Amino acid sequence: MLEELRRHAQVDFIEVSKTMRGRELAEVLAGYHFIVASVNPLYDAEFMKHQRDLLLIARHGIGVDNVDVKAATEEGVLVTRVPGFKERDAVAELAVALALDVVRKVCYSNKLVREGRWSERGRIVGFNINGKTVGLIGLGNIGSRVAEIYSRGFNARVLAYDPYIKPEVAARYGAQLVDLDTLLRESDVISVHAPLTPETYHLLNEEAFAKMKDGVVIVNTARGEIVDTAALIKALESGKVAGAGLDVVEGEPIGADHPLLKFDNVVVTPHIGANTAEGLRGMDEANVDAILKVIRGEPPLEYLVNPEVLERGTRAKLRTR
Ligand code: NAD
Repeated sequence: MLEELRRHAQVDFIEVSKTMRGRELAEVLAGYHFIVASVNPLYDAEFMKHQRDLLLIARHGIGVDNVDVKAATEEGVLVTRVPGFKERDAVAELAVALALDVVRKVCYSNKLVREGRWSERGRIVGFNINGKTVGLIGLGNIGSRVAEIYSRGFNARVLAYDPYIKPEVAARYGAQLVDLDTLLRESDVISVHAPLTPETYHLLNEEAFAKMKDGVVIVNTARGEIVDTAALIKALESGKVAGAGLDVVEGEPIGADHPLLKFDNVVVTPHIGANTAEGLRGMDEANVDAILKVIRGEPPLEYLVNPEVLERGTRAKLRTR
């Protein structure tokens, strides 16, 4: 993929601090026409205004919460992302893996064995997913696959909270659409699959944890900021939450001294949700295809997050037909 891109453009890897933004970031990235963007830093309005060479920001993933799409549109910058289905299985399977790890204490047991503590096996007790209630927050591309796995593979009762889908769509994946309070109250495992928006920021806060069942397991492979970390820590301390499996953490990347890491019942992976051979290949292909389309003067329609930019006018010279 990279070779293909190198036939058409100079390709550089640039690492910047996750907190760099605005004019400073624009200066570091001056001269680049295409940016393949990771989950940070934030590409804000100030950045769009000052990076005048930029034609396209291609998100190497699904979430575009670190790109000010409105500002990009106003500045004529195309924003693309990877179509969700390319990462669907990879992230859904990791979400289930994290739940199973926490529920069956896999990482913890492995640690005990390595410490020569095999004989403590009698106190390592999990629970079956079969027959339990799993609550999914967000039932889109990834959440719907997670619903299928739990309902068809584990015979679990699957509840979903998603204000933007219809009950019949949920039923197709073996899930029952409910309000958030019902989901919080009735779920044994809560798995987060919504995008980060002003509406979902700290959706799982102290008030939400208080409504949950004692001993609930929390899984988050969506965005760290959807879970209020301080509230999660309190809930872990009180035992309200029996464990958490997190592929994303507020303020990531986190260091080894992060307070969540003092809990044996918390498993953290470093945002590797899409990192399967198939997932990564799919993401690379989508990014390269989007960039090559723009180089050829074609609008990258199937990847475009801000199609309205085509009406307003793009910095890239594109054929409209
Ligand atoms: P999607 O847009 O297909 O699905 C998200 C669903 O959430 C939609 O059905 C939407 O209606 C719903 N939603 C929106 N606002 C909501 C709210 N307030 N409450 C409940 N539901 C709400 O997205 P997706 O492809 O399924 O991705 C889901 C999440 O996973 C995103 O946050 C994305 O950034 C994240 N993600 C993480 C990784 C990773 O590596 N861990 C990889 C890909 C995507």
